[in-house]
Amino acid sequence: MAGLYIHIPFCKQKCTYCDFHFSTTFSAYREKMIHSIVKELESRVAYLGKQKVSTLYFGGGTPSLLSKEELKLIVDTVYQNYRIESEIEFTLEANPDDISIEQLLMWKNAGVNRLSIGLQSFLQEDLDWMNRAHTAEESESAVRLAKEHGFSLTVDLIYGLPNRTKFDWEYNIEKLVKLGPDHISAYCLTVEKQTALHKLIEKGELPEVSEDNQSDQFELLISKMKSSGYQQYEISNFAKEEAYSKHNSNYWKGIHYLGIGPSAHSFDGESRRWNVANNPKYIKGITENTIYYEEEILTPKDRFNELLLTGLRTKWGVNLESLSFKHCPSKEFYKQLESFKEFDLIIEEEGRIILTEKGKLQADHIAAMLFLE
Ligand code: SF4
Repeated sequence: MAGLYIHIPFCKQKCTYCDFHFSTTFSAYREKMIHSIVKELESRVAYLGKQKVSTLYFGGGTPSLLSKEELKLIVDTVYQNYRIESEIEFTLEANPDDISIEQLLMWKNAGVNRLSIGLQSFLQEDLDWMNRAHTAEESESAVRLAKEHGFSLTVDLIYGLPNRTKFDWEYNIEKLVKLGPDHISAYCLTVEKQTALHKLIEKGELPEVSEDNQSDQFELLISKMKSSGYQQYEISNFAKEEAYSKHNSNYWKGIHYLGIGPSAHSFDGESRRWNVANNPKYIKGITENTIYYEEEILTPKDRFNELLLTGLRTKWGVNLESLSFKHCPSKEFYKQLESFKEFDLIIEEEGRIILTEKGKLQADHIAAMLFLE
């Protein structure tokens, strides 16, 4: 079993906080991009060997901008070239302003069975400074409509926003819980240097984000999700009735995946490869058959640290046996592990190390302390 990710690098407008790879001026080369994605799909079948694709994920950028013909062309290429599991999880990221009955029917026809809706906040003021293309009203109607049309749903929210209190965050959580998606991803706002948000804060047009507020809001999130019947199966991901994201769970469990499109990453168990995050360079590389990616062979230390970082964030934790690479784990690792157990940050169960509720509040720090230098 393996995952297939397709990156659609187009967006209507630039959200102030975003540092993903996308372009808002793509009309001149849109067709060339779609054909390059198709060509890359056809040329990289061997990457997954005999493994069947169990999850297909259209991310971006904004895949909900794809026309019916563009989506069909890409999906047909996937089905014609790859071995696909019959019970595939097929997710498409969609922005609320792109969700209509017509679009939902079109996605359903194409085989999409799960939508990831980038909602971010129910407060119009937040959506305004974030420069989101949708309104607070559209957020609600999009979730309702998608639910009525039978899609499995995951909805993204962002917490720790400048100027936002615990009460505002509580309002957002409660509003979303009422709409009842089966999966919620809640991410803490990070201010990346090259973003418009960073400039807004530097100019004093928005206040600095407060780490204390962010921690308080994370704790509130955990307790609200628990009391509303959502299980925290990964630090930022919550599911009702085990509606876990299979695609993301594959990443966290170290299962192989193939990434297609500019900036997409691939992993085959031994190496990691990433496509150039530049649309014209990607198209040129694919068209002229020149190198359009970089690659690194992972050392035992890299694999060890990655498994720890991703695994510890999940409710399944990390299987200690899976960490037995050449020369690892070290004596220091076990010493540090014992001290985390003493402080009730980690428990060990049937050969797996798992973060406690207290440990989840410091997940990345704990993983970093266990890393091999
Ligand atoms: S729509 Fe998504 S990918 Fe595009 S700019 Fe906004 S956050 Fe980034």
